Amino acid sequence: MTTHRPQRTCVGCRLVTDQEVLLRWIEDPQDPSRILPDPKRRGTGRGAWLHPDPECARLAVRRGGFARAYRSSRIRVELDELLAALNKALPNASCPPEHLQT
Ligand SMILES: [Zn+2]
Repeated sequence: MTTHRPQRTCVGCRLVTDQEVLLRWIEDPQDPSRILPDPKRRGTGRGAWLHPDPECARLAVRRGGFARAYRSSRIRVELDELLAALNKALPNASCPPEHLQT
């Protein structure tokens, strides 16, 4: 496949990769300090992109990747909540991501 695919930057590891391997997250419309997974990519507003990977989730929380992606300092992302939401959004995510094998 040589067709061009949209590229996005993971807010955890900062790797630029195909949009389709990343999970989109949006600000919770009910509570702008929280985020929601948007696996169908239909949510409105600014999106943040993250590998469905606990290590990237950890990096994103530590580096404030979500606050930077949304340009909002109100975001309060707890790692536990993020991992739980990740598991819920992608119950079948068991294959190791390519970017951690290099
Ligand atoms: Zn990543």
